[in-house]
Amino acid sequence: MTKDNSLYLGHDQTRNPYRICTWQDKANCAGCGIEDGLNCRFNRGDLLYFLALFSPPAIAAVAGMIRGGFSWWLAGWAGYMVFFFFVWEARILCSHCPYWAEETRVLHCLANYGVIKIWRYHPEPMSAEEKVQFLVGAGALVAYPFPFLILGGEYILAVLTLAGFVSFAFSLKKHVCPRCVNFSCPLNAVPKPTVDEYLSRNPVMRKAWEEHGYQLDSSAGD
Ligand code: SF4
Ligand code: SF4
Repeated sequence: MTKDNSLYLGHDQTRNPYRICTWQDKANCAGCGIEDGLNCRFNRGDLLYFLALFSPPAIAAVAGMIRGGFSWWLAGWAGYMVFFFFVWEARILCSHCPYWAEETRVLHCLANYGVIKIWRYHPEPMSAEEKVQFLVGAGALVAYPFPFLILGGEYILAVLTLAGFVSFAFSLKKHVCPRCVNFSCPLNAVPKPTVDEYLSRNPVMRKAWEEHGYQLDSSAGD
């Protein structure tokens, strides 16, 4: 991969070897028409929104497992989360995301902020196998507490956990996935013209996507 920073002399681009516009100086966004259509720059408010969505069902599940007598099994859930977020999901999903392209040890993004990056950035889109793995892995993470809540007789907290995860999924689909820059995620819902516009501004990504069969509409980037 060519690490050509020459296009952005005048800005601190030492951490942006792939020339991803998300990590350019904000001044380079002037004139871009898609800023309002994408969460394409790191914003603490977006991170807090994500955490606020995930916390209620997670808290209900933890409370239910403790009350039901399965406290020790929380270690299994926590361990799986560490493995999933830092290793498995990090490779199959996040390593393809423009947020991952920042050359730092720690991920700065709108959801998994703080993950230590053990994988290199992959500008190409996710493969079909990676999409299936992501859905299976995320499904297992969400499903984990329910057997313990049921076996522990914590039916009300089980229902609250389920309602929280359903609400989390609806909010993601309505407010996060239609604006997320990880376009090849199976949940992504950004319209193709916006994807094409972003790719036309990011030649490293565009080349990798086109090498994997993606075609931009001819008007993109005009
Ligand atoms: S798509 Fe890129 S250039 Fe456009 S506003 Fe977002 S970060 Fe800036
Ligand atoms: S896919 Fe989501 S969680 Fe992963 S790096 Fe991108 S914004 Fe963060």
